[in-house]
Amino acid sequence: MTGREGILECVICGRRFTEQDIHFRRYFASTQVCRACYERGQKSSYSVWCFGKQSVLASGGKVLEHGYDPTASDCAHECPDRGICALFVSGDLGMARQKRLKCPFRQTHSMTVRAWMKCATTGMAIEHLIRWVNRQGGDPVRLLRILRSGEMNHVQWQVEEGNGFLKIIRVDDRNSIQERQ
Ligand SMILES: [Zn+2]
Repeated sequence: MTGREGILECVICGRRFTEQDIHFRRYFASTQVCRACYERGQKSSYSVWCFGKQSVLASGGKVLEHGYDPTASDCAHECPDRGICALFVSGDLGMARQKRLKCPFRQTHSMTVRAWMKCATTGMAIEHLIRWVNRQGGDPVRLLRILRSGEMNHVQWQVEEGNGFLKIIRVDDRNSIQERQ
């Protein structure tokens, strides 16, 4: 090593870091990725990057969105980000530990379920949602009524709307609350 010795660079954003940044976990030498990039990854949708996320389960236990799973070989052995991902999922780094998101619907592949999941994870532009439902021959008015109703099969949620964008927040699963009591 000559010249470039001691220069640490994030392979995603290209910003440079020092040994001290490693100490304060602002940069991870094992993957050459900085914390800001991992935080952005955690906030991105499941389809972009599973990093730092909990899996999303349907009522019956079927996995709708794959997040960190220590029993999967990818997460246990193969993914280069696995160690850091575990820290983000546990809440040691990144966003506070998220409650496992439970989908209120029984069928897992219907249009309603997919729309609900999209609104609960990344949110959805209403205009886009209407076009998407129409293309599949569905009834967008009915679907929006369900999304805005805020309750289904003992799962309650709140809807946040603004600038033509709809997002489901604060999903509260009453079954699991009862189980804990
Ligand atoms: Zn970076």
